[in-house]
Amino acid sequence: SLRTTLDIILHSRFPMFLWWGTNLICFYNDAYRPSLGEKGKHPRILGMPAKDAWPEIWDIIKPQIDQVLSGAGATWNEEMLVPIFRNGKIEDVYWTYSYSPVTNEKEEITGVLVTCMEETKSVDLKRSLSESEKKFKNLLMNSPVGVTILRGADLKIELANEVILKKIWQKEKEEVIGKKVLDVFPELTNQKFPELLKKVFVKGQPVKEFEFPMLINNSKFYLDFELDPLFENDGSISGIMVTANDITEKVEAKKKASSAEEMLRLSVEASEIAIGEIDLKTDSIKYNDKLLEIFGHDVSKKLTLHEIRNQIYPSDRRGIVTKAFSDALLTGNYKFETRLVKPDNTIVRVQTIGKVFYDEKRNPAKIIGTLRDITRDEINRYALERSERRLRNLILNAPVSIGILNGPDYIVEIINESALRLMGKTKEQMLNKPVLEVMTELDIEKAKLLLDNVYYSGKPFSAAEFPVKLNRNGKLEKVYVNFEYDPLINSHGEVNGIIVVGTEVTEQVLARHKVEESEARFRLLADSMPQFVWSADKEGNIKYFNQAVYDYTGLLHKQVLNGGWIEFIHPDERKRNIIKWNESIRTGKDYIFEHRFRRYDGAYRWQLSRAIPLRDEHDKIQQWIGTSTDINDIKEQEQQKDFFISMASHELKTPLTSIKGYVQILQSMYENSSDEVLVKSLERIHVQIEKLTKLIVDMLDVSKIRTGGLTFHKQSFEMNILIKEVIEELEIIHPDYKLIFKNDGDLSVYGDRERIGQILINLVTNAIKYSPKNGNIIIHSESNQKNIVVSVKDEGIGIDKNYQQKIFERFYRVEGKSEKTFPGFGIGLFISSEIIKRHKGKIWVESEPGKGSRFYFSLPLYKK
Ligand code: ADP
Repeated sequence: SLRTTLDIILHSRFPMFLWWGTNLICFYNDAYRPSLGEKGKHPRILGMPAKDAWPEIWDIIKPQIDQVLSGAGATWNEEMLVPIFRNGKIEDVYWTYSYSPVTNEKEEITGVLVTCMEETKSVDLKRSLSESEKKFKNLLMNSPVGVTILRGADLKIELANEVILKKIWQKEKEEVIGKKVLDVFPELTNQKFPELLKKVFVKGQPVKEFEFPMLINNSKFYLDFELDPLFENDGSISGIMVTANDITEKVEAKKKASSAEEMLRLSVEASEIAIGEIDLKTDSIKYNDKLLEIFGHDVSKKLTLHEIRNQIYPSDRRGIVTKAFSDALLTGNYKFETRLVKPDNTIVRVQTIGKVFYDEKRNPAKIIGTLRDITRDEINRYALERSERRLRNLILNAPVSIGILNGPDYIVEIINESALRLMGKTKEQMLNKPVLEVMTELDIEKAKLLLDNVYYSGKPFSAAEFPVKLNRNGKLEKVYVNFEYDPLINSHGEVNGIIVVGTEVTEQVLARHKVEESEARFRLLADSMPQFVWSADKEGNIKYFNQAVYDYTGLLHKQVLNGGWIEFIHPDERKRNIIKWNESIRTGKDYIFEHRFRRYDGAYRWQLSRAIPLRDEHDKIQQWIGTSTDINDIKEQEQQKDFFISMASHELKTPLTSIKGYVQILQSMYENSSDEVLVKSLERIHVQIEKLTKLIVDMLDVSKIRTGGLTFHKQSFEMNILIKEVIEELEIIHPDYKLIFKNDGDLSVYGDRERIGQILINLVTNAIKYSPKNGNIIIHSESNQKNIVVSVKDEGIGIDKNYQQKIFERFYRVEGKSEKTFPGFGIGLFISSEIIKRHKGKIWVESEPGKGSRFYFSLPLYKK
């Protein structure tokens, strides 16, 4: 109600105003009065209708009042400019105010309550603030130094002036404003800058840097800059203002200046140049420290012209220097080289270059010149000359032919004796002449092409065994030369000549041709032979097969050469074949091997191959010559013989055993018989049966050896005991021979006792068989560190050297006039040697025909 409302208004400390009733009578409290100003509306408008009280603003407020009265609710306005009449004039006043409805007892809207606050002061303040800010911004934007404001913890670029945009950042405004500074300039991340920003932002301390180097957009800048924290009213830091002055040019210039200065200083120091000035009128001189140093004085010394002249080497002073001086006065140029004597009597060489300066009357006034110590240059030049001379001498005396051809006309600049001999020319004919004009006997076109190729490509060229026709000893000779052409390249990398090195190889080439010819002849011969002929180089590579091999195998050259020949050897023999062949190549011993060759139709035939090395005059093997002979028929016969022997011996063995049994029975029955003929006959039968048994056992052994069925029962035993047993046994059968046994100590052997006994029986039986009755047979056993050696010596017919190897082969018997009378099969020694081989021992013979033989075998000593 009105009363309550008025009550509230009167007591409120908040400025309030009320329009009431149909005429909207004005009413307000004390708190409102200041807003009406001095000498203004108060108290005039109290009780006045609103329209009369506020004519100046009636247009503004009328609609709002109507709105409230119509029941549409309260209004609200903030910092609204409502200029009112006060203090004698219309004043701009800002208000924040609300109009709200006031009702009567009947709940009808009958008034408008105005609650308001005058905001003019704060608005003014704000306005003046933003104005000063604008001004400040303007200042920044137009400042001749670069300015940017970075706002917030992530340092977004809020503002950047022209200078910083264009001169330093080289970016458009749109590219940077509102972006984080480190996003726009990621290159700053690794520099010291972010650290500085942080320092400012966190600690609130301004930072100043001078000549700070910074890499922006890949160009180096030097900046003087300042980072200032921007504070808020509450003292917090909201950003950083950066002012930066680009002083790159200044720094660069400073740097350049200092480096130019430095360069000058260094070059002066480095150049070993002394400077001097002679006043020709007064004979006074000026000079720098270097001059004193060259003359051998320390810097404190004062030199006179006279003293300087006195230090010049006496003969030079009288000669070179005097002349140079008088020349200088005529020509204006002063230049000479002379020797100086230093106070310590060492001599240096100096070079002087100077100029004469004239006065107005064109009389010589002074000489200014430089002086350089060239002692070292001199030494170097001398060394260079010497090394060049040495090279020249080396070329001239070289055993190979060397020539140096200069320039594109190939002028002979140097040529040595050897080359002159090779070409058949004299020095006078060749030296300093274009080589192609002198060597008319050459195919000039070809020779020029060859030289041009090297000269213009810069690539070396070599030719081996190059045939050339040369005019030597008064006639045209065909010679062979190994040539090497190398381009000579100067310090600019250009070819300016060719060095030709040659070695004559005519003799070698001709010798090789001869060999090739004789080889061709040999081939012709070999190819017409039905036997297989082949040759191999010293490494064992087969280089040649005669035609017969190709005809037989049906293979082509490329199939059998280079090791392909192993393919036509029967697979069973391949491995041993290679071993055997390599062994011969290694040892140089004759190669003998039996193997089967595959014929073109797939059939295999046995061949006996032999190869012997051909040696040169130094006994070095040059090549191998081999032949292969078809032994297939012999082989087949041998196989038939083997087959027969094995059959026969098996078949004979059983009846013989029973005969032996019967004879033994008869012998024991007639042991004490007086019938001497019977007893003697039985005795003879027994001996013959023993012999027959041994023969059959031997024959069985042979077939066993062939089939690999010979077995051994090895044990350790005493050799000497075995020998004694054998001797005792044989003495009974051969009472006419004297068996003598010599030995030293116990000899233990590990092996098949019976088989080794068999060897002993063979050797002693042979000794008996091949020596006259009553002969001595000496059996000897001894040992060395590793082996025991047993020998059986007779005084019989002996064996010719040619057969001493062969008697150990199967069925081999020495055939001669006398040997015919000795019965035998030629298998005893073969079996013995097989047994010995299988015991890793050796068997051999020493013998002289007519004097006797001594058979040896050795076996590894058994260590107990
Ligand atoms: P065989 O004696 O049955 O012929 P061997 O294999 O025992 O067979 O001997 C082979 C050959 O060696 C003999 O034929 C003989 O010519 C020769 N020979 C062996 N022992 C001697 C020896 N002690 N003196 C001379 N010749 C011998």
